[in-house]
Amino acid sequence: MTNKYIYFVANWKMFGNLRMIDSLNKVISFVKKLKRNRFRLIYCPPNTLISTLSKKLKPSPILIGGQNCHESNNYGANTGQVNSNMLKDAGAKFVILGHSENRQLGESDRLVNLKIRSSIKSGLKIIFCIGESLSQKKKRVTKKILTQQITQGLKGIKNKKHILIAYEPIWAIGSGLIPTNPEISEIIEFIKKKVKGSKVLYGGSVNTKNINVLKKINNVDGFLIGGASQNPNNLIDIIKKTFN
Ligand code: PEP
Repeated sequence: MTNKYIYFVANWKMFGNLRMIDSLNKVISFVKKLKRNRFRLIYCPPNTLISTLSKKLKPSPILIGGQNCHESNNYGANTGQVNSNMLKDAGAKFVILGHSENRQLGESDRLVNLKIRSSIKSGLKIIFCIGESLSQKKKRVTKKILTQQITQGLKGIKNKKHILIAYEPIWAIGSGLIPTNPEISEIIEFIKKKVKGSKVLYGGSVNTKNINVLKKINNVDGFLIGGASQNPNNLIDIIKKTFN
């Protein structure tokens, strides 16, 4: 795994303020000091911080993403919503779509598909999240659920080179629980067979301790990191350990 180009996606969720942005100085100087970069770091802050963060990160190789967007990339009377053109305009290059925290609020596979289409049109790259719940895992229907999420979510999308897939078991998000390496590896292989040429990340409770185990998964292309990414020291530690 250490010879590959690895993605680290920092999902700040509904956390973060202007003060927290200053804490990124450490991460910026860590990334700048590296002679040869074998990874790509993408920060996904709340929408309120995208523009400020993107200005701060402009001279660095760190990229910005949004955490969700509306399915239409036109302006419209949609109070509280932001579309993919607006994310792009604010400085985002990526957007997380299909996150289980949004699916749990009622976001369907069809809606995720519309969001992916409009975001691609806006020129954004997509971090497409899929994953099974604990009861689905117990019923041994994980692959069936993932197949449905992939088939419907990517329906009609021919050019998938703009899409990174994040396998995030819902039961692993924020719980401290993670699947075993063979379990993750089997699912990654399954996804890569379904979506030829895709890059697949793992997400769910990645932290400074379990990264020593997770980094041994040889078909993983990176990690989507929630809670642990809010602390710059932890994020730096995760990146360092991945390559040590
Ligand atoms: C996430 O929300 O995408 C995530 C992976 O969260 P955490 O790392 O906190 O489990």
